[in-house]
Amino acid sequence: MADTALMPIAGLVDPVPVARDVTARADGRIDLIGLARPRIAELLAATGLDAKQARLRARQVFHWLYHRGVTDFAAMTDIAKTMRPWLTERFVIGRPEVVEAQHSTDGTRKWLLRTDDGHDFEMVFIPDETRGTLCVSSQVGCTLNCTFCHTGTMRLVRNLTPGEIVGQVMLARDELGEWPKGSMAGFAADEGDEDEPGYTSDGRLLTNIVMMGMGEPLYNFDHVRDALKLVMDGDGLGLSKRRITLSTSGVVPMMARCGEEIGVNLAVSLHAVSKEVRDEIVPINRKYGIEQLLDACAAYPGASNARRITFEYVMLDGINDRDEDARELVRLIRAYDLPAKVNLIPFNPWPGAPYRCSSPARIRRFSEIVFEAGISAPVRSPRGRDIEAACGQLKTAAEKQSRAERDRAMPAGA
Ligand code: SAH
Ligand code: SF4
Repeated sequence: MADTALMPIAGLVDPVPVARDVTARADGRIDLIGLARPRIAELLAATGLDAKQARLRARQVFHWLYHRGVTDFAAMTDIAKTMRPWLTERFVIGRPEVVEAQHSTDGTRKWLLRTDDGHDFEMVFIPDETRGTLCVSSQVGCTLNCTFCHTGTMRLVRNLTPGEIVGQVMLARDELGEWPKGSMAGFAADEGDEDEPGYTSDGRLLTNIVMMGMGEPLYNFDHVRDALKLVMDGDGLGLSKRRITLSTSGVVPMMARCGEEIGVNLAVSLHAVSKEVRDEIVPINRKYGIEQLLDACAAYPGASNARRITFEYVMLDGINDRDEDARELVRLIRAYDLPAKVNLIPFNPWPGAPYRCSSPARIRRFSEIVFEAGISAPVRSPRGRDIEAACGQLKTAAEKQSRAERDRAMPAGA
């Protein structure tokens, strides 16, 4: 992308180019996806509409963009027929480019996507009986270097823009064919537990979002917040904050703002209970230690017994999976009085990974110890193994297979 600005990103790297929120395309048109109402109104005003007209049109356009998912101004039926070509000349309604789409035998779907400036990233859709979860990326690569994570071995290329983040959700709705024809009333209702939705999935619909794709969302805070606001807006994508979970490796100084300004559920990649082991496998621990992290969890705005914090714990053979680790995990959760659930994730191996997954019996025993202490500790079942679709494992397959190989493997005309 030619039109980028240097912006420092917290982390272990030098400043990298980050695309601005509004970047005109080569043909001079501006992509509206990722922009909020006031910004759309500003752009309309800049092209000559008076302020009142601009605000009104911005509200209409916003509804069509995010609530109805149209990609063509011609479909905006409540906007004057003469104005629609005027909009088309100046603006576009974009989506991330799909490089490749894969469908697992278990219903999981994975898309390899590409930004306008040619960087690849991924999103995954995981349906089950009660919900359909979209795993969304926040960065291309990651500045952190968790030793068990394949994304951690990649250089950070850049933060994704709000448009590229919300664009993933919009693209998923396109691909699943589920933009509402009419009202989504009831869907965004904020009452009740996320596990007892007023709106149930038939195993296909996108009902939940997890920020667990590539990248550390709290190192791209502003863009993630702006994108999720569009997702949560009742006249936007209309998904309740209770159906959205943001996963962090432990960027302690940003956690309170995450609760206050975004208000979504929090998941924390704990993965170890001692300084020694966590320093090694989740190196951000050297900066923000376990005590600081758990203090921030205890203070997380909005956490309660109805909205628990999820502690993710990857099961690594001989590293963090002993009975005493499980008991220490229970002790910590109690000591900090945390409304918590534990998500045990079988390690998903990648080529050259320095770990093995714990045995099923070990994982079961670990889960029992936590569960017997009254803390929910389900083992996340691997999904989409045949297409290497697990969250935290994104882009692996694409990296292994060079572009040329992929092109050769594509059926003619695909
Ligand atoms: N950067 C954020 C969110 C993305 S990773 C974070 O670290 O929380 C989403 C989850 O997948 C994290 O808990 C991460 O630790 C986990 N993960 C990464 N690589 C994995 C692997 N190879 N096997 C199992 N889980 C993995
Ligand atoms: Fe980055 Fe999360 Fe992977 Fe760690 S686990 S390297 S924070 S994406």
